[in-house]
Amino acid sequence: MLELILEMTEKQHDIITRFPPSPTGKLHIGNARTALFNYLFAKHNGGKIILRFEDTDRARSKKEYEENILDALSWLGLDMEFPEIYRQSERTEIYRKHLEHLLEKNAAYISNEKNERGEEGSVIRFRNPNTKITFTDLIRGEITFDTKELGDFVIARSIDNVIYHFAVVVDDFEMGLTHIIRGEDHISNTPRQILIQQAIGAPRPVYAHLPLILAKDRSKLSKRNGAVATTDYREQGYLPQAILNYLALLGWNPGTEQEIFTLSQLIEQFDINKIQKGGAVFDIEKLKWINKEHIKHLPPDTFLAMVEQYIPETIRNEVALQGKLHKLLPVIQEKTEILCDVKQQFDAGEYSYFFDDLPPYTIDKLLWKDEREPIKAAEKLSKVFEILSEISEKNFSEIFIKEKIWDFATNAGRGAVLWPMRYALSQREKSPDPFILSAILGKEGTLARLKKAIGALENHKTV
Ligand code: GLU
Repeated sequence: MLELILEMTEKQHDIITRFPPSPTGKLHIGNARTALFNYLFAKHNGGKIILRFEDTDRARSKKEYEENILDALSWLGLDMEFPEIYRQSERTEIYRKHLEHLLEKNAAYISNEKNERGEEGSVIRFRNPNTKITFTDLIRGEITFDTKELGDFVIARSIDNVIYHFAVVVDDFEMGLTHIIRGEDHISNTPRQILIQQAIGAPRPVYAHLPLILAKDRSKLSKRNGAVATTDYREQGYLPQAILNYLALLGWNPGTEQEIFTLSQLIEQFDINKIQKGGAVFDIEKLKWINKEHIKHLPPDTFLAMVEQYIPETIRNEVALQGKLHKLLPVIQEKTEILCDVKQQFDAGEYSYFFDDLPPYTIDKLLWKDEREPIKAAEKLSKVFEILSEISEKNFSEIFIKEKIWDFATNAGRGAVLWPMRYALSQREKSPDPFILSAILGKEGTLARLKKAIGALENHKTV
């Protein structure tokens, strides 16, 4: 038994995936999905994932992009698996060793030729055996290419300057990669890479090419329709757990109704065989909905810390208002899709009635549609006033208030009681229910508003 367990553990540890971004731009959201799928597959199988910067394009590769990629991965929470970071620019020796070996066995040759500018020079070309290559892709099934049309392709500009395909194959071999999970746009690179693998004597890893991410109109995802850097989503107020959740569903689903996942649930449920072939449509509305769901699950204090910056200083810093703000927080949390919404909500005065004195009442608005007599409304509000006066400050909570008012409202007509009560407290056509409003405003604030509304109704006998 023990042996079996050991064998199984060992086997699982064999799985190695990689995330090999080119640091020529910020971490694009589509590449974040590639990172996530490699991460989930490795973690699901108890394997590991390697981070490798593919910076062979020296002119376009920049440190700042490396930093952005690391920053984004760490924000997403995918960083803990990268104890060591590889850079192709630091691996010239390793590539040279393999290149020399290929030259020695005549699998590659130096070719003197003119470059595009007509200058004499030399490159190293791969001696193409011109065979048919068939590989089994975990997502797309069997794929066959005739490599004849590739000709003797270039694998290095010089002995110390290999091109991308060569570096990738050597790295995947040296790093013991078992699975290559990458975008579908790399399918056409695979036959070249397999030829190089065979020449250097590397075993063939398992390939899985992920479906493309498409815009809503099924065009290629571009900056205009949502393809922004992962860190831009952070700035806009998306939660990393929501981004991961949404990205996981771009091309994969567990085959159940579940749509909201934590990272550990994703790891547990991820099944590479359930990845779809067809393009995955990027839908910002769906992402917002997922974000909203994750925001709802945040502990209130965590939510407050995240949105504090968007709350006006006059409220944030005023000790007398902090209790009210705290009670209002669940209301804000419930309706927030992305964190920046909170700024807009405050800017638009959505919560001002909680903090500011109310102007005089418009009687018409205080009246329920089926009960248009101000004096009757005044009577009902007076009863509400009486009931609420008897509740202690300590018990002045939504649930308790509702419990006390409910029977009266049911007997006297819910609309006729609850509409004027709600309007008296908010002066808004739309607001949370009157029990929530009362709890947020507190006993004193609630009674003061009710009193003011009763006074206005009493002084206004007809409409
Ligand atoms: N560096 C390549 C890219 O950023 C990935 C290469 C690969 O996955 O094999 O698209």
